[in-house]
Amino acid sequence: MSNVFYREPLHDYPEIERAEGVFLHDADGRAYLDGSGGAAVSAIGHGHPTVLAAIREQLERCAFAHTAFFTNAPQEKLASLLAARFPEPSGRVYFVSGGSEANEAAIKLARQYWLARGQDGKRLFISRKQSYHGNTLGALSLSGNPGRRELFGPLLHDWPKVPPCYEYRHRLAGETAEDYGRRSAGFLLDAIREHGAENIAAFVAETIVGATLGAVPAAPGYFCEIREICDEHDVLLIMDEVMAGCGRSGTYFAFEQEGVVPDIVTLAKGLGGGYQPLGAVVVRHALYERIVDRFGSFAHGHTYVGHPTACAAGVAVASVIERDDLLANVRKMGALLRERLQSAFRDRPDVGDVRGRGLFLGVELVVDREKKTPPPAALGLPGRLRESAMAEGLICYPAGGSADGRDGAHVLLAPPFIYTEEHVEELVTRLGRALDRVAAH
Ligand code: PMP
Repeated sequence: MSNVFYREPLHDYPEIERAEGVFLHDADGRAYLDGSGGAAVSAIGHGHPTVLAAIREQLERCAFAHTAFFTNAPQEKLASLLAARFPEPSGRVYFVSGGSEANEAAIKLARQYWLARGQDGKRLFISRKQSYHGNTLGALSLSGNPGRRELFGPLLHDWPKVPPCYEYRHRLAGETAEDYGRRSAGFLLDAIREHGAENIAAFVAETIVGATLGAVPAAPGYFCEIREICDEHDVLLIMDEVMAGCGRSGTYFAFEQEGVVPDIVTLAKGLGGGYQPLGAVVVRHALYERIVDRFGSFAHGHTYVGHPTACAAGVAVASVIERDDLLANVRKMGALLRERLQSAFRDRPDVGDVRGRGLFLGVELVVDREKKTPPPAALGLPGRLRESAMAEGLICYPAGGSADGRDGAHVLLAPPFIYTEEHVEELVTRLGRALDRVAAH
């Protein structure tokens, strides 16, 4: 009998034994191709010697020293690396241990900024339906994910939610992508007017919607319009790049492809690449300065803020991406994977859409391709597909609720940036077989 409180206690999990490159191996000798980096985590694959060496060196030097007493070289270096990639090199970086913590910190930073500006009323955070920002109570309050919120509703903040920007299901017949982008951004303006700009601290959105919709980028012009609306109404723009950031979209920050600069961007997952739990909040200098001038410090903190070993892993992951020019490979393999998925699944009645950016792609599953009929939640498709994919030796990330928060299903693909053409072919073949298995039962 196990004492582990498993994610799904009735499920049998194989035990992982080792992982190397783009393959994971279980204790029974089965190999799995990593097609999703777990949940968009393993950015540079498994067992990378450069990262292992950097972690070992930091462990030997100093595994942990509380940042209330000391700064440390890895956090200094990683902050410089991130600020240099951020459009504003004087940006400041606050390190945490994961995505939920990053979004909690972003919420509190935004609040403290408005307090520093004497705007005490600004306490509401507008976000989008069909989004995910984390499972802690603040981050879950932001999340428009009915399944994850269901049991905890009474504990959550009742913050306004606007519709997602989701072309496949919400662009009208005859509407251009640009018109849809503009119309969709208009929902934010409506919400600001309804709740009063003087009450709104920030708008929070995933640059590319990950787990809840399956790698859905915004329509063209959407974020430019959003940025303008935020500026006009003194509302901060927080972009959640916990999944989409750190190179996964083909540029280091996914917002670079939108022509906007957020006030705050949150990162995690690919930042530590799975080698250490790590997240970060990158904030524009003007916000940092206001807070520090007025209060002296950010009224927040966790034990592991700026953890030296976690940051050392982050530095090593970022340097491998840079040294091996992996963003070029993300763009190249991303384009190839997308094209191969589109052509291989062109005649599948159960595949409605293939979308995404870089090596962050989503395949939306349907019951009827023409009518875009979503698979009902009761079919339990995501769980069945995860099982079938594992039986075919593939790790991918299926999830449900893509159509309306309950019905619908998609598979999220987020392979390591070191993928080759052979890996792309193998992923498409194994995913096709897994879909066949599900269709046959
Ligand atoms: N934001 C986004 C966009 C995410 O995808 C996730 C995790 N799936 C989170 C936040 C929460 O991150 P974590 O699970 O590391 O707390």
